[in-house]
Amino acid sequence: MTRTLAFDTLQIHAGAKPDPATGARQVPIYQTTAYVFRDADHAAMLFNLQEVGYIYSRLTNPTVSALAERVAALEGGVGAVCCSSGHAAQIMALFPLMQPGCNVVAATKLYGGTIQQFGNTIRKFGWSAKFVDFDDLAAVEAAVDENTRAIFCESIANPGGYITDLDAVSALADRVGLPLIVDNTTATPYLCRPIEHGATLVVHSATKYLTGNGTVTGGIVVDSGKFDWSASGKFPSLAAPEPAYHGLNFHAALGGMAFTFHSIAVGLRDLGMTMNPQGAHYTLLGIETLSLRMERHVANAGKIAAWLEKDPRVDHVTYAGLRSSPYHSRVARICPRGAGALFTFAVKGGYDACVKLVNGLQLFSHVANLGDTRSLVIHSASTTHRQLSPEQQVAAGAAPNVVRLSIGIEDADDLIADLDQALAKATA
Ligand SMILES: *Cc1c(COP(=O)(O)O)cnc(C)c1O
Repeated sequence: MTRTLAFDTLQIHAGAKPDPATGARQVPIYQTTAYVFRDADHAAMLFNLQEVGYIYSRLTNPTVSALAERVAALEGGVGAVCCSSGHAAQIMALFPLMQPGCNVVAATKLYGGTIQQFGNTIRKFGWSAKFVDFDDLAAVEAAVDENTRAIFCESIANPGGYITDLDAVSALADRVGLPLIVDNTTATPYLCRPIEHGATLVVHSATKYLTGNGTVTGGIVVDSGKFDWSASGKFPSLAAPEPAYHGLNFHAALGGMAFTFHSIAVGLRDLGMTMNPQGAHYTLLGIETLSLRMERHVANAGKIAAWLEKDPRVDHVTYAGLRSSPYHSRVARICPRGAGALFTFAVKGGYDACVKLVNGLQLFSHVANLGDTRSLVIHSASTTHRQLSPEQQVAAGAAPNVVRLSIGIEDADDLIADLDQALAKATA
């Protein structure tokens, strides 16, 4: 077949073929640590990257590889590497690009955990982050210096569901010769395909919509294969002899697959942030219904956001699917199938009313998660964004009077009824 397969077909078939040993139609869970070499020559070829195959499951595993291939296909990338969590994927994305003393220019509107990881923890590696508002492109450009090695943002950004102008940000990244890394967790490749908008790498928390039902912790990095790692001399791990892999120049040897091979041969080998085959299996199952779930997530979110916006107990709603959102005009261009299902709303009555609202909800679960089939709620200021300063909370869209919803795929009217009764208790 020479046809280009559509998303709904790829989400079921990409990366999966009947198991060569048994004919098993579903991807088996290869629960094995190691793989028998045919002979000593075969082993040597594998270790030299002269032949692709399985050595040890910290590096690669057939179940995990099927998932990597599927997500690469859905994102339109050339390769992918699966990791133990979304946070692991972020470190794995930066690892081949950074050296001590280097920085990443990152958006202020990010998942709270990412602000923490970039703001504090990566300093222990000698890396740092500069946070800027990505709606102010001049500020982004001004933050780039000679030690910057990447630009990082979310496609649909936490917690408000803000939409980043990926076309404009990637044009800027091209102009300054840097790779753009886009966290596409909250959009998924069904709603947004960052590589088509110029992203170099796409990172995912597979924990969220990709798996879809709150059973797995996992992450994925997808490479577009398009960045020229050799052009600037700024990426020695990829485009100069890599001492961590007997002096191999990955870009010279592997071209567009340099990032993916480095991530496996050096990143997973030495950092060990490996996805387990059981987790990969659950995520593969989840992805089979990704488009169907996302359509319902988006339809429910639109209906609920519109209802909340009209309610006098609510101060404002940030959903980009609403005409009132300053991000509304970006929806058709950046995420044409919908603005996602994650947004915040401000409750009249401030912090105390938010706490009462969260306590009063019955169908919505109060959890630090998003992208589940079931609807979720969190008061960011007292939880995920608690360790940020009040100024950082406001800049991140997590002010004290704001509640974040992750709308599930239940009946929208049942969810509205639940919000209605909880708002009554919160504002009584
Ligand atoms: C959850 C999340 C992460 C972190 O992923 P984990 O799987 O929890 O490590 C990163 N970015 C976004 C947007 C997320 O929602």
